[in-house]
Formats: sequence, C-alpha cells, structure tokens
Amino acid sequence: MADFNEKFLDLKESYLFSEVAKRVSAFQQREPERSVIRLGIGDVTLPLGKTVVQALHSAADEMGRAESFRGYGPEQGYDFLREAIAGHYQSFGVKLDTNEIFVSDGAKSDTGNITDLFSKDNTVLIPDPVYPVYVDTNTMNGRKIVYINGTAENDFLPMPDRSVHADIIYICSPNNPTGACYNRAQLREWVNYALENDAVILFDSAYECFISDSDLPHSIYEIEGAERCAVEFCSLSKTAGFTGTRCGYTVVPKAITSKSANGMEMSLNKMWNRRQCTKFNGVPYIVQRAAAAVFSEEGMSEARAMIAHYMENAKVISDTMTEFGIRYTGGINSPYIWFECPFGMDSWQFFDFLLEKAGVVGTPGAGFGQNGNNWFRLTAFNNKENTVEAMRRFKELMK
Ligand SMILES: *Cc1c(COP(=O)(O)O)cnc(C)c1O
Repeated sequence: MADFNEKFLDLKESYLFSEVAKRVSAFQQREPERSVIRLGIGDVTLPLGKTVVQALHSAADEMGRAESFRGYGPEQGYDFLREAIAGHYQSFGVKLDTNEIFVSDGAKSDTGNITDLFSKDNTVLIPDPVYPVYVDTNTMNGRKIVYINGTAENDFLPMPDRSVHADIIYICSPNNPTGACYNRAQLREWVNYALENDAVILFDSAYECFISDSDLPHSIYEIEGAERCAVEFCSLSKTAGFTGTRCGYTVVPKAITSKSANGMEMSLNKMWNRRQCTKFNGVPYIVQRAAAAVFSEEGMSEARAMIAHYMENAKVISDTMTEFGIRYTGGINSPYIWFECPFGMDSWQFFDFLLEKAGVVGTPGAGFGQNGNNWFRLTAFNNKENTVEAMRRFKELMK
C-alpha cells in the first residue's frame, strides 16, 4: 500500500456545519412543534434566471443534433464565454485579454488548484476569520501559514504588516464570513506590499456583484500594478445562482512572472494553462452557454434582481443590529452580516441561545477562525418572510 500524504493529519476536523446540523436536529427532536428558521445558509435559494434556463435548453438541443454536437471543448473555456467575461470586466474599467481568462467549474476548485503552481516552501498569509478552503488546501500541501487578524478594531479588514514576509497572500473581498469589503486605498496597500515582497495575491471576488457602493472596487485589477502580482477568482455561484450548475473563472494576467529559487522566471499564465490542460477537461458546453447568458443584458438584469432580493433581507438583518447597537460588518456590499455576540457570549453559546429561545439558526464565528470566537454570521439567503420573522424573534430576545 502506498504511503499517504501525512499533511492530511495536520487538517483540523471541519466540524462546523456537521455540528450545526447535529444541534439543529437534536433541537427539532426535543421540540418538534417549534418552527426553525435557517439564516446560516451559505447557498443561494432563488432559481436560475429565465434567460439562463433558455440558454441551457437551447444548448441541450444543440448537443442532441449531429450538426451542432460538441465533444471536448477547449480546456480554458469557449471564446464566446471568455469574451463575455472580458466584457463584464470592461464594465468596471478593467481591460483583459481573453487568454488571461480561464473558465472553470467554480472558484473553490481554482483557489485550491492554484497552489499547484507554487513551491511548498512558500509562506502563505491568510486572514482570520476566513473561508476555510485557503487554509485547508495549503495545509494539504504542507505550506507554512501565517495568519493576519481581522478584528473589530480594523473593521475585519486587516492591512499588511511590513515586518512579516509572505509569498502568497489570500484576500477575499467582499469577505465571507465578515461581509467587509476593502476600498481602493486599502487594496493599493496590499498590491504595494505584494510587489515589495515579490508575492502573489490570490484575490477571491466571488461576491463582487453584491457591491452596491460605487466607490468600492469589484476587481483587484482596478488597482494599478495588480496585473503584475494578482490572480483573481470569481464565480457565478453567488452572482447568478450557479452553486449547483457550476461555473467560475480565474484571471491570470500575462504580466505576472514567478521566480524559481535559482532566479529563473516563469509566466504564471503559461503555468496555469499547462496545469489546466493536464488536469482539467473544461466545463460542459451547456453550462458555458448558460454562463454566457448571465453576461447578456437580460441575464445581468435577472442576476441583479436576485441580488436585490437578497440584499433586502440583508437590510432587515443589519437594521436589527443597528437598532440594538450591536457591532457588525457586512450587509451592505455582501449577503453576510457578521456581528458581535450579545450578552458577552461566545459564538457557540450564542448559537445554542438563539436556537433554543428563537428557533433561529446561524453560523458560529468560531468556525471561520480564532477571531470569530465571539462573532456570529447570519445570511441573506432565506426568503423575506422568514428573515422578517427571524428578526422579530431576535428583537424579542434582546428586550
Ligand atoms: C461561495 C464562495 C465561492 C464560490 O465557490 P464556487 O466553487 O464557485 O461555488 C468562492 N469563494 C468564497 C469565499 C465563497 O464564499
């Protein structure tokens, strides 16, 4: 039997969502007549837009006719989709070559797979709290991880510490779980830090479509110099309800080079292309047609309507926090509201309290890192009626 990768032993048991499910199901067994409202959902709930569904149908029909059937497609994605994505970037003033855009089955795979390109000796800088994928994928590879603290004091937007050297930097903005979003000046500091350190920024913009504040950057490439140090990951999962349909895209600018230990330079764009051609055979044609439909005028307006619906829920939640003077981030440019647990509770105590007293399920901040120990995440992905009812119950608790 082959030896296994012992780095897997370093992974922390990811018990967050299973523990949440266990506690909810125990509660429901104990109190079967109580209604439970789930505001812990990290998944979209609205169906795909009409335009997207039409595109799926017509692409399926094409696949069923000899003259328009398609087999293996380009590993990087079809040009029609890469061009549509480039057009989306142009809408926020970023000019990309279609060869810098790689279509994939989602941002989760790509944020993990990108680690194939970098030495295991690199040091990785990861904010805490954060989406757990960055930590786990680098742990599997045995890389050294240093954490940077997101706290109430920095509004959960940690800034570079010049006394710390890092080679790989993860940034997620707007952030999951905190909903906090970096402004231009802050991202400029990160880009400068990366350029000074010869580091690469892995920028996760999965929630860019939730940005409502017109001054906030949707893409790191809105910052000068980022094309020399940043790779960007985005996805249609949250933008257009593609969590089950699966389509994302990664931008690897041609201007980024990475050095080997002996100083040899390699193009990251070429390396990523090589990696994808070796390990990936592309996203289904049908799905790529659906994704391209998202970027059409009607598709975008349907996506915006879905996001507006979620953001109304977000406002119901954030207004409640404001009413009680509870410290929070998010809810404006993000479907997540991240707040300090009331009554000095830690996040698991508050989880139990909210479930027992109000029948409302959220996500304990501790599941996203140490700095989340006294914080809690609610999401805007339930429907309006349930969100309003959950906040009515929340207010009762706070009296
Ligand atoms: C939901 C989410 C994604 C999207 O992942 P997919 O694999 O594209 O569904 C990426 N990053 C973060 C932080 C997310 O929360």
